Amino acid sequence: MDFETLKRQMQEAGIAGAGGAGFPSYGKLSEGLKVLLVNGSECEPLLYTDFHLLKRELSTVLSGAETVAEVLGIPEVLLCIKAHTAEQLSRKDGEPLSSRARVKILPDVYPVGDEVSLIYQATGKVVAPGALPKTAGVLVFNAETAYNIGQKVLRGENVTEKWVTVGGAVEAPFVVRVPLGTPVSDLFARHSVAVPEGYAVLDGGPSMGKLIDPERAVVTKTTKAILVLPESIEAVRSKRMDAEMSVARAETACCQCTHCTDVCPRALLGYPIEPHKLVRTSPQAAEADASLVLAASLCCGCGLCTDFACCQGISPKAVIDHYKTVLKRHNLRFGARVTPKVSAEREYRMIPVERWKKALGVAKFDKLPRFLGEESYSRVELPLLQSIGAPALPAVENGAKVERGQIIANAAEGLSLPLHASIAGTVRILGGAIEIERKE
Ligand code: SF4
Ligand code: SF4
Repeated sequence: MDFETLKRQMQEAGIAGAGGAGFPSYGKLSEGLKVLLVNGSECEPLLYTDFHLLKRELSTVLSGAETVAEVLGIPEVLLCIKAHTAEQLSRKDGEPLSSRARVKILPDVYPVGDEVSLIYQATGKVVAPGALPKTAGVLVFNAETAYNIGQKVLRGENVTEKWVTVGGAVEAPFVVRVPLGTPVSDLFARHSVAVPEGYAVLDGGPSMGKLIDPERAVVTKTTKAILVLPESIEAVRSKRMDAEMSVARAETACCQCTHCTDVCPRALLGYPIEPHKLVRTSPQAAEADASLVLAASLCCGCGLCTDFACCQGISPKAVIDHYKTVLKRHNLRFGARVTPKVSAEREYRMIPVERWKKALGVAKFDKLPRFLGEESYSRVELPLLQSIGAPALPAVENGAKVERGQIIANAAEGLSLPLHASIAGTVRILGGAIEIERKE
């Protein structure tokens, strides 16, 4: 297979970064790379999606990664997993998996799965601030993304399903493969998952997941987990705090202790980001001169500054998220050439996962989920935009009958992915989504 064929196949299959970022994977392919990292680090607490995927489908994951490496001439593939996952999967550091692939064991710290942190931890290279991983000669795919590439090259399968952890305050957490577009309410109903008064639901992990309405939300290409968590814990409380509230608190309560900067994983890698300074920048000044908050674009959103460091109830993350939207509006990104110098303190300041779970208030919910296999649902709702880039354009009409795997929306111009039917049934076009219903 040649470069263009692989790129076309990956786009045709609708493969997006399955780890949460949702970047169209074909857009990451490049010549001259030295190492491919398969990210199975499962950085977020309570998530066991990649664990079950690697336990059951390692050969497909490796086929996807090996194919990319072969076509792009990448000499080395590293399957990156944390120490606790390696133990559960009985894998050793450096263990060969094929002629070019081997296991790389990462420490049980947070947030080692963040792309920039992962690259440093696995290869010792630091991606320059604001630059793409390929500038360091590295390509990173989430384990499920590599699995989806394997499914396409081995079996011709387009992306129609998602591996998802359902956990948190549920009686028996589980991992399941469901059709894309499965309504969260149907998934909960099938498994008798209740959301009691005073509980919230997240799409994603407790650190970086988003609050969702379980009555309206559906499983998308970037859904790694659906978690039910009490409103009272830090993981949920801090997500309810907006930038306005945080700026108001910062004005009165921030003592400029710099703890938020001391633990920031990007600052520890030598990136010019200092959350304590961003917190004290006034939003009015940032609006008038967005370059004052350019460093906000270097934040990976890990939440350590907020849920771990700040004892004044301020959310530097919420402030920084606000500044990210200001930068987007002004079409600005960090572009200065900076050669980062990794802090000598980094090794000692990395946060052990167990401490992180306690800070978030989720330690008591951490149980190894059962794997339930594949499930089928009779109705799905597929958003036209499930990745970074432009939304797909419907290619079917109201009332059309479709088969599973069939294209229902084409990729738009530029960075975009097509969409495939995740179940067989009858189509209904909704604003921004396509519903498919199968009459039983
Ligand atoms: S940790 Fe909190 S109080 Fe300290 S500098 Fe950061 S925002 Fe201010
Ligand atoms: S969320 Fe806070 S700690 Fe994490 S990268 Fe952003 S500024 Fe740093």
